[in-house]
Amino acid sequence: MSVQTADDLSAAMGPWRDAYIDGAWQPVQGSEVLPVVDPSTRAIIAEVAAGTPADLDRAVAAARAAFPAFTASPVADRLALLERIHTLVLERAEPLAQILTLEMGATISHARAAHVPLAAAHVQAAIDVLRDYDFLTIRGTTAIVREPIGVCALITPWNWPLYQIAAKVAPALAAGCTMVLKPSELSPLSALMFAQIVHDAGAPAGTFNLVNGTGAEVGAAMAAHPDIDMISITGSNRAGVLVAQAAAPTVKRVTQELGGKSPNLMLPDTDFAHAVPLGILSAFRNVGQSCSAPTRMIVPRDRLAEVEAIARATVESIVVGLPSEDATTLGPIANQAQYQRVQTMIAVGMEEGARLVCGGPGQPAGLEQGFFVRPTIFSDATTAMSIAQEEIFGPVLVIIAYDDIDQAVAIANDTIFGLGGHVQGTDLEQARSVARRIRTGQVHLNYPAWDAHAPFGGYKRSGNGREYGAFGFEEYLEVKSILGFA
Ligand code: NAD
Repeated sequence: MSVQTADDLSAAMGPWRDAYIDGAWQPVQGSEVLPVVDPSTRAIIAEVAAGTPADLDRAVAAARAAFPAFTASPVADRLALLERIHTLVLERAEPLAQILTLEMGATISHARAAHVPLAAAHVQAAIDVLRDYDFLTIRGTTAIVREPIGVCALITPWNWPLYQIAAKVAPALAAGCTMVLKPSELSPLSALMFAQIVHDAGAPAGTFNLVNGTGAEVGAAMAAHPDIDMISITGSNRAGVLVAQAAAPTVKRVTQELGGKSPNLMLPDTDFAHAVPLGILSAFRNVGQSCSAPTRMIVPRDRLAEVEAIARATVESIVVGLPSEDATTLGPIANQAQYQRVQTMIAVGMEEGARLVCGGPGQPAGLEQGFFVRPTIFSDATTAMSIAQEEIFGPVLVIIAYDDIDQAVAIANDTIFGLGGHVQGTDLEQARSVARRIRTGQVHLNYPAWDAHAPFGGYKRSGNGREYGAFGFEEYLEVKSILGFA
């Protein structure tokens, strides 16, 4: 199936404008529509119906009604449901990849190689965890029982739309929770296709619901809703704080996966010819729109010129272009607001006195029709600069020099964020010891393979709670002690 137009999308997804409530696609109450823009062309390619708080109420009621039966369902039934979802994600991988390319500009090769298979990997990880999970353990005469927390609200961002949805929906289903998903209003099409997959996999009516809408309307109503037990949001710090504030009066559990400004600390014995290109490419993966992108490269001062030369050559090898073309390695920024933010931050870096190694403001020649930006590297950056402190969320990297390892660690930790981190070095013992000193939820040593079971989440203002694997699964569980049980 080739998904290139709104009609193809419609055919691929069924009644994609609607909400999915209680096992069926249903019209929403409001008449407002939300345009979906192809970032390569700025053309509106689809519209989805904006849900309202009244639509959310219907979805929550359906999830509440479905909860008693689903929470009591045998583990084998939930495993079978997740297996069918996993199979369907892989069967529909190509239209999913094409929709991601259209709705947020992921290059088709990256959508095929990462967005879709890693979403499937989160479903597989939930299967692996559920298969071996002990919901009851005995300590002395006390039983410790883990039970699904209840009705969950799941709010996801536009940068890894399908992946983030899978990382929340799969463990919530595995745990035996029922849920309402609100995908990003900017990139909601792959979410609608995912909802169709959950439906086709045979999820009991009401178990999984989807209501499109804005954060200010549907998202805020979710956070405040008295009949939602837990809310999990991935998004900006601004939205994460608003969700926590709105959720406080109902004392629901709040899990937040928020922003980052992750360091890539290169120890003096690093193989720079190998580690610098990989560092640039991992920072610019997904056009730099990843919360854990390692956008601060921290390098020994006496290697600065060498690092800059390698970085410049690496950027020259990047192919900026249309995301639908196989050869493209860097597509457009996903939406207009983010495009403007990236252009602003490049200008700020120049005003702050950081030195441009390559890139800069404006657009690559011949690509003015979309939200394309020039991959940009600054050097001579200091931790006082806003380009070294604020999340830019685009292909913009700062190089910061250090004089000794204590100073390098201090620079790495000099941020309000604490999501990801990288340490490079030949002496693994030294790299391990530096990793222990970095205050982030993940640290990667020498670019290891991605791990769907490695807990993911933030220290400091990068969030609360963990996703992925067993830790992500347990966010959807309550703990009950039954004393005198044994
Ligand atoms: P955003 O905060 O604008 O939107 C994220 C989601 O929150 C959307 O679904 C949006 O509708 C909703 N939302 C917005 N305001 C809300 C409100 N008041 N109440 C409830 N919901 C609301 O973020 P974005 O621009 O879509 O995503 C980019 C951000 O996400 C970046 O800051 C990035 O670092 C972060 N992110 C974090 C992780 C992580 O795991 N830590 C992963 C990916 C992205």
